Amino acid sequence: MSITTIFDNYSHDKNLRTGWGFSCLVEVGEKKILFDTGADGKVLLDNMKKMDLNPGIIDSVFLSHDHWDHTGGLPVFLDKNERAKVYFLKSFSEDLKSDIKNRENELLELEKFGMIDERVYTTGEIEHTVPEQAMVIDTSKGLIVITGCAHPGVVEITEKVKENLPKEIFLVLGGFHLLDKKNPQIDSVISALEDLGVQKVAPCHCSGVGALELFKKRYGENFIENGVGKVISF
Ligand SMILES: [Zn+2]
Ligand SMILES: [Zn+2]
Repeated sequence: MSITTIFDNYSHDKNLRTGWGFSCLVEVGEKKILFDTGADGKVLLDNMKKMDLNPGIIDSVFLSHDHWDHTGGLPVFLDKNERAKVYFLKSFSEDLKSDIKNRENELLELEKFGMIDERVYTTGEIEHTVPEQAMVIDTSKGLIVITGCAHPGVVEITEKVKENLPKEIFLVLGGFHLLDKKNPQIDSVISALEDLGVQKVAPCHCSGVGALELFKKRYGENFIENGVGKVISF
């Protein structure tokens, strides 16, 4: 399996374009799932082209939450893929839903923790002023949790995963939304993740520069530098 960061505000490969937002491609077995779409579909497709990823072969799109920097690339992507299923939360805005409903693509409303594909789960809707879902992949090394912005809290999301799938957590990857937090608060988030047994972290997007430094310091070799073009594979 592999996870490829296609859209992010941090750069890993200088040949690719950055932008505010997040998107990654999750490949599990034969399945290809696009997690979020970034803010700009042109940048998303441009990066995919440079990485030799054909948008037409993606099976489904998983939207973590209804923010433009995660859903903005969706229309341009769906123009290139009429068969991908779109997984979203029931609470998403009617504007976003109606744009998808006018297309051939199948729309799947998610609400509760559950399996969406072989070895792939949604946390279901986690309540917050910005409701959000995270993706969980059950691998031989343990669970991988992918967050969009982690508005409900990266610790709260990880706790929900543990409640529903009591297995070791190998990696938490994505936006951790700590950019407005002070160091002592970030430190307590890191401690909570360590207590939950999170083995590796790959924060990006809205995690914040200060948080990246602290995570790097405390996680050491288990800190994975993430950004556009990063490929993590097992
Ligand atoms: Zn957000
Ligand atoms: Zn975001």
